Amino acid sequence: MTTNPTLADLAHRVAEGRDRPAYGHDALITCDRLVRIFSMDGIEVQALQGLDLLVREGELMALVGASGSGKSTLMNILAGLDTPTAGAARVAGRDLLAMTAKDRLAYRRHVVGFVWQQTSRNLLPYLTAAQNTALPMRLAGGRSRGARRAHGERALELLELLNVADCRDRRPHQMSGGQQQRVAITVALANNPAVLLADEPTGELDSHTAEQVFAAFRTANERLGTTIVIVTHDQAVADEVRRTVAIRDGRTSTEVLRRHQVDATTGHETVVAREYAMLDRAGRLQLPADYTEALGMRDRVALELEPDHIGIWPDDSEQG
Ligand code: ADP
Ligand code: MG
Repeated sequence: MTTNPTLADLAHRVAEGRDRPAYGHDALITCDRLVRIFSMDGIEVQALQGLDLLVREGELMALVGASGSGKSTLMNILAGLDTPTAGAARVAGRDLLAMTAKDRLAYRRHVVGFVWQQTSRNLLPYLTAAQNTALPMRLAGGRSRGARRAHGERALELLELLNVADCRDRRPHQMSGGQQQRVAITVALANNPAVLLADEPTGELDSHTAEQVFAAFRTANERLGTTIVIVTHDQAVADEVRRTVAIRDGRTSTEVLRRHQVDATTGHETVVAREYAMLDRAGRLQLPADYTEALGMRDRVALELEPDHIGIWPDDSEQG
């Protein structure tokens, strides 16, 4: 049996927290108060407004959010194609704000792989699936005959792993949209990146085909251990990952974690989903709008520290 901590225990914990390790020190991807401002014709758009995100090595997670919430802006930064205005972003030990042009090229070639929504943006039209997949390996080095043979073999292995080996000698226009996206994943995986980023990779596909493409991401995650971040509008995809982070107005807002729970008596397995709010280092908490609206909370709330939780109530100072 566990007992609830006393207030003295809590005070002790508060004191301990002062020397806790740096934010995201053990994460593969760390975004810390990330800001991206676009200026166009004198008008500023704050696409990211202090976004915090941690992704651990080996995760397969989804990012969701309304159109214009900043998802693609974040993906372009993580892909090394765009630089933040302020804040910090680290991926696999690289500081994305401090990379030289040369670092950036090496980063895009070896550390991250990406898959975009438009199938046409992912593959070169005049190359076959096998040639498309081998291309990043050729660009990364090794032009000898032995190296080329190794590239060809690895390309085939990847195509087989993602169930598109039958497309090896086909050019993109000879493949279905779903096959093209699965080949796009093999291209992204060619140089064995630590992170695979995908921005609405199933956005142009019907739900059955989207399911197959999502299965390919899962295979890459499980068999190759690649950490994967998928931006999606598709609730079915979001439901299949353990963790879904919602972005709202350029900031991470809520997070849903799903875990499998097995009933001890029946052995029946269910998925339990629980919603979490993000707590930033300054202690700021963003409550979901539907929660605060349901209780009429705005501007100020009443707060109480309890041994095992914090209570939040509508502002009662005007009453009684
Ligand atoms: P999402 O992918 O979630 O739909 P985006 O990241 O594409 O959102 O866009 C976030 C906001 O930033 C939008 O208001 C969009 O208009 C703006 N934005 C994105 N890219 C640019 C750009 N290159 N120049 C100006 N504004 C941009
Ligand atoms: Mg987008």
